[in-house]
Amino acid sequence: MSLSEFDIIRRFFRREHNLPGVTLGIGDDAALLTPATGMSLAVTVDTLVAGRHFPEQTDAASIGYKALAVNLSDLAAMGAQPGWATLALTLPDVNEDWLTGFAEGFFQLADRFNVALVGGDTTRGPLSITVQLLGQVDAAHALRRDAAKPGQHIFVTGTPGDAACALQRLQAGEPVMEALLTRLNRPEPRVAFGQALAGVAAAAIDVSDGLLADIQHILDASHCGAQVNVDAITRSRGLQTLDDEVALACQLNGGDDYELCFTADADCVEQVYRAAEACALPLAEIGIIEPQPGIRCVRDDGSPYTPAIEGFDHFRVRND
Ligand code: ADP
Ligand code: MG
Repeated sequence: MSLSEFDIIRRFFRREHNLPGVTLGIGDDAALLTPATGMSLAVTVDTLVAGRHFPEQTDAASIGYKALAVNLSDLAAMGAQPGWATLALTLPDVNEDWLTGFAEGFFQLADRFNVALVGGDTTRGPLSITVQLLGQVDAAHALRRDAAKPGQHIFVTGTPGDAACALQRLQAGEPVMEALLTRLNRPEPRVAFGQALAGVAAAAIDVSDGLLADIQHILDASHCGAQVNVDAITRSRGLQTLDDEVALACQLNGGDDYELCFTADADCVEQVYRAAEACALPLAEIGIIEPQPGIRCVRDDGSPYTPAIEGFDHFRVRND
């Protein structure tokens, strides 16, 4: 390596900042962090492996961006305020251009959401990036997966399916609309909206595995079922050009969208819409929680819907 581990940290990752809660940042054996009084720490970690969680040819800035974005999305889905990150980087070699791009993408988001990078680890090996993100939330208002109850309304933000559509086209060697590619490489974590939902919505999850799979995670944790109107899911312009069944497969089974899916009691629905409007975020009400287990998909006219195309695994950037 031309640059030592310490050179890399100093040049690319150690930055002056004045962010709250950081009693001691990068440079010691551990960071010292101080959450606000009475708040719980919300802690999440995600690893991105080249070729598995992002296509090999992805530019470094998008990788840096996405490594933090997926963690911000997890905290958003808890209703937490992000605060501090650690970064474990495994690099095949020291490529200064790559590191410059990676740091640029990472700090673009870190700066926007006031996240301090407070530590990490740097090793040599096949490219892999692990970001741990810590935030804070009032535990009484956190958005947990086990809080759904029959009668609650189900919502999803944005236009699910875009990332899956982009990935499928990339993998097929077809041209990809810029707007769809942005949704794959630069997902917008719904941080402000997630925080606005804390204490208002009931259960929440971020859509990383696919909308139906992620709704099922809420249902499993909450021991109930749901009816979902597949026509109520907002469809982006990019998806509108597709065959209806293919578009639905992307929306229902495609992953990697990092939208928020959540439930809310009927008397909170107005507040939910006001919060979405304040965040200028498209929001769709797509179904209702029911006591019977399982997800029953229907169309606008109430007729049952069984996806004609199943097993869109190859559409997904898998997160396992
Ligand atoms: P240790 O040997 O105690 O694990 P390291 O030599 O790995 O310490 O790291 C030195 C300091 O630099 C530590 O404070 C560590 O948290 C930080 N650090 C290491 N790698 C990174 C990185 N990729 N990004 C941010 N901080 C890092
Ligand atoms: Mg170390």
